[in-house]
Amino acid sequence: MKLRDYLDHDRLLLVACQDCNAKTPLDPAHFALRFGANTSVEDLAPGIVCPVCGSADIKLGAHSPMERQAERNTTPADTTGVSP
Ligand SMILES: [Zn+2]
Repeated sequence: MKLRDYLDHDRLLLVACQDCNAKTPLDPAHFALRFGANTSVEDLAPGIVCPVCGSADIKLGAHSPMERQAERNTTPADTTGVSP
């Protein structure tokens, strides 16, 4: 996955720390400006440390605020309490 894909889909880079278990979303635009939008996220991982504890033992994932909102939008239909 490239930084461009994150930007196109309004995703954030998610730094998942293996040491302190913090999950910190980072703005991919920041890295796209520095390294270029065609840089693979896998290539960034070695240069990123946990913003919370500074550990280099992290995994990079994708965080999708938009998708989470879509899930929330489906909830009201389930909570109406009306059953046939
Ligand atoms: Zn950490």
